[in-house]
Amino acid sequence: MRRVLSVTSECVPLIKTGGLADVAGALPAGLAGQGWQMRTLLPAYPGLTKRAGAKTAVFSFDDLMGGPSQVLAGDADGLDVLLLDAPHLYDRPGGPYGNPTDFPDNPLRFAALSLAAARIAAEGRGDGWRPEVLHAHDWQAGLAPTYLAQMDCTDVATVMTVHNIAFQGLAPAAMLGTMGLPLSVYTSEGLEYWGQISTLKAGLVHADAITTVSPTYASELMRSEFGMGLEGVVAARADRLSGILNGIDMEVWNPETDPQITPYSATSLRGKATNRKALMSEFGLSGLTGPLAIIVSRLTSQKGMDLVAATADQFVAAGGGLAILGSGDPLIEDQMRLLARNHPGKVGLRIGYDEALSHRMFGGGDVVLVPSRFEPCGLTQLYGLRYGTVPVVAATGGLADSVIHANTMAQSAGVSTGFQFHPIDEMALAQCLRSVITLFSDKSGWTRLQKRGMKQALGWEASSAAYAVLYESLIGEHNGAT
Ligand code: ADP
Repeated sequence: MRRVLSVTSECVPLIKTGGLADVAGALPAGLAGQGWQMRTLLPAYPGLTKRAGAKTAVFSFDDLMGGPSQVLAGDADGLDVLLLDAPHLYDRPGGPYGNPTDFPDNPLRFAALSLAAARIAAEGRGDGWRPEVLHAHDWQAGLAPTYLAQMDCTDVATVMTVHNIAFQGLAPAAMLGTMGLPLSVYTSEGLEYWGQISTLKAGLVHADAITTVSPTYASELMRSEFGMGLEGVVAARADRLSGILNGIDMEVWNPETDPQITPYSATSLRGKATNRKALMSEFGLSGLTGPLAIIVSRLTSQKGMDLVAATADQFVAAGGGLAILGSGDPLIEDQMRLLARNHPGKVGLRIGYDEALSHRMFGGGDVVLVPSRFEPCGLTQLYGLRYGTVPVVAATGGLADSVIHANTMAQSAGVSTGFQFHPIDEMALAQCLRSVITLFSDKSGWTRLQKRGMKQALGWEASSAAYAVLYESLIGEHNGAT
C-alpha cells in the first residue's frame, strides 16, 4: 500500500462541526480501494484518546509549543487515527475551536498540529511508518508544508485542500517566533498577508498542489467575488490547482437501511410518504398542499438564510412548508424564530445540532433548500439527491456541479435532478420556488425527478480515484527531481 498522512482539525466519527469532518472521515476508506493507506492526524480533544483506544505513543516531543506532547495511534470505527496528545493545547472544554468565541491561542494550537505532521513526515513514526504524501486540510493544517520545507525534506509530496477560503488562519506577525518559523518565510511571496500571518496562505504558497472540493469552486477562487483577498495567490498557482468534488458515505446515508426512517428506495417511494407525515408531526406542521422543504445548515449569511426569510411568506402562501434545523449566528437564529412564529403550522424550527433528526428530515422532506452565497462543495444537496429530497440550490461552487437544473430541455431530455437559481438573490430564489411548486403538482414528473437523483453515483469512488492520481503524479515529480 502507498502511504499518505491526512492532517485535519476534525474527522468523523470523532469530532465534527462541518463538512470537513465528513470528508476527512470518508476519504481513507475511498483511498483504500485505490491502494492507498491514509492515516489521519488530529488533535486529541477531550475524550478522543479513550474513544479511539489510543494508547501507543508513536512519536513524542519534549516541548511542542509550550508543553510535552505525544502522538498516540488508535482506531475509530476502522479509521486509522493518530491523536496529538498535547494537554496544554487541547485538553479544555468547548468545541474544537472554542466556545462561544475562538480560543486566542488557536494559531498556536494548530501550528502545533501542522508541526507534528511535518515531523512525522520528515522523520517517520517510531515504528518506521512514514508517508509519501502529506495532505493538509484547511488553515488548521496550512503550515505543514512550510514546516516540511524548513526541514529540507524533499521526498514527501504535499497537498493543500481548501474546504472554505473564508477561514484563513490569521495570526499576529509577532507569533512567528513562537511558531518556530524564521523571518525569511514572512514575505509577500510567503505567508505574510496584510501585515499578519495567514496559515492558509502558507499552504497555498508552499504545497506542491492545491485542491478544492469542486471544480466550480476552484475556478471561483481565482475571482475577487469568491477569493476573499487570496484570489491572486490562488491564480498565481493555477497550474497546480484542481477541484475534486466530495462524495458522501453511501452506507450512512442510505434510505433503504437508515434506522431513523421508514425505509424506501428508488423502486418504491411509499416509505417516504410515511416519513413525511412523521416529520410534519415532529415539526408541528399540517395542511400543506405544496412541497415540504427542509433546511439542515449552519445558520449564517454564507448559507443564504436571509434569502429564506425573505421568500418564505410567498412559499408558504403557495402551500409550501418549511422544517429548519440549524444553529449559528444569533441574529439569523432570531430571524428564523420570527419566521416560525409568523407561520405557525407551516414553518417549524429546531435550533441545535442533531444528526439523527437530520436523517429524519432527509427521509421526510420533498425538497432540500441550499441557497448559499458561496459553497465550496456542500453535502446536504448530495444527501437530498440520495433520499429523493429534491435539491433547490444556488448556482455556485459544488452546488452548481452536483445538481442538474430542471429546465424544460433537461426535463424532456430526462437528465434533470433538481433546481438551480441565479443570481443568488431573493427574486431569483422566489421565482425558482414557484417553478418547484409547479413541478411538484405534476406527480409523475416529480417522481421521475426524485428517482433520477436517487440513482446518481454519489459515493467516494470517483473522488478518491482523482486524489490517488494526483498523489501519484506528485510523487513522480519528486522522484524525477531527486
Ligand atoms: P459546511 O461544512 O459549510 O457547514 P456542508 O454542507 O459541507 O457545510 O456540511 C455540513 C454538514 O453538517 C452536513 O453533513 C450537514 O448535514 C451537517 N449539519 C449542519 N448543520 C447541522 C445540524 N444543525 N444538525 C445536524 N447536522 C448538521
